Amino acid sequence: MLGLLVLTVLLGAAFGNKDFVGHQVLRISAVDETQVQKVKELEDLEHLQLDFWRGPARPGSPIDVRVPFASVQAVKVFLESVGIKYEIMIKDVQLLLDEEKEQMLTSKARSQARSTDTFNYATYHTLEEIYGFIDLLVAENPKFISKIQIGNTYEGRPIYVLKFSTGGNNRPAIWIDTGIHSREWVTQASAVWFAKKITEDYGQDPAFSAILDNMDIFLEIVTNPDGFAFTHSKNRMWRKTRSRIAGSSCVGVDPNRNWDAGFGKGGSSSNPCSETYHGKFANSESEVKSIVDFVQNHGNIKAFISIHSYSQLLLYPYGYKNEAAPDEKELDQLAKSAVSALASLYGTKFEYGSIIKTIYQASGSTVDWTYSQGIKYSYTFELRDTGRYGFLLPASQIIPTAKETWLALLTIMEHTLNHPY
Ligand SMILES: [Zn+2]
Repeated sequence: MLGLLVLTVLLGAAFGNKDFVGHQVLRISAVDETQVQKVKELEDLEHLQLDFWRGPARPGSPIDVRVPFASVQAVKVFLESVGIKYEIMIKDVQLLLDEEKEQMLTSKARSQARSTDTFNYATYHTLEEIYGFIDLLVAENPKFISKIQIGNTYEGRPIYVLKFSTGGNNRPAIWIDTGIHSREWVTQASAVWFAKKITEDYGQDPAFSAILDNMDIFLEIVTNPDGFAFTHSKNRMWRKTRSRIAGSSCVGVDPNRNWDAGFGKGGSSSNPCSETYHGKFANSESEVKSIVDFVQNHGNIKAFISIHSYSQLLLYPYGYKNEAAPDEKELDQLAKSAVSALASLYGTKFEYGSIIKTIYQASGSTVDWTYSQGIKYSYTFELRDTGRYGFLLPASQIIPTAKETWLALLTIMEHTLNHPY
């Protein structure tokens, strides 16, 4: 064990992985609007290099922030001086990263996947491994699954979508994407599990078979391939794309602020160094534009589900404005059913509601755009957990997370099938 740990540290160093030794994740509790504003001031202090995992929103909603070692004292002193309470959620981020890396190495040493039956669903995988999985799955199910390349990333990587179809011509379709924020690893890992689950349940489970007998499913497992590759090779905490713009040394755009729906409004940043930088213009990111083109060319997508982590939420439009979506009643009812199906497995509790009311204003987000395109069942998930591990959810939780989420997805898919529009 110790040998492996030493090896991982060496490997990390050899590949130039950014280390997070002494970084802490603090949970800040702002009890009133003044305190929320104080935390927002902190957010604007660039030299502190804070990484907000859950940004400041409204009084009472938790704020999680990763604080680099060099800023830990200053941040704590500041919070204490203005009387804002906080607790330490993660004492040393690097320790969790070391455990994650060790888990990956030990589980891989054991498994050489030559088929999707022997593939290890209970560990995190690299981009190459996931792309390998996709090819295996397609090769094993050639009549039923195809791989579509919808574009290329900024760095030239192919962007793939899996199509599950039992026939027909341009059937009504369900879209599911994961990992548009690359560091949300449990989402891509869950999607790999979903893909296998679809092949197992079709023809076995009557409710699911009815869905796939009438609709197609599109699944984009790695929606931000450049960012995902970067989380493995250089910086585990990378969220954005990897595009460069002239005049800034900061890299990447937040692909969940880059859509053409309330683009550039509140809840996004015009600062290229911000984690919520919206980009120079809507659809500037090829990872976004590729989906936009695909959705518009297809023209028959009826449910669009974009999956993030963490916080345990199921959200619907709008994110950029306070107005209720015209279909809010139905969206809310369906969300309620979906989260109760999810909870039925392990009791995991999800909150639900519109993005702006449930978390915070976010403009240019995926589902606001899809909803504006007439896709009524537009939803965003935030999967496990509620902050104990945040983005560093242990691999032991991948399969439980995928299983419970699948029940919510089934609820939405069934409703879509039974309520054609
Ligand atoms: Zn996200």
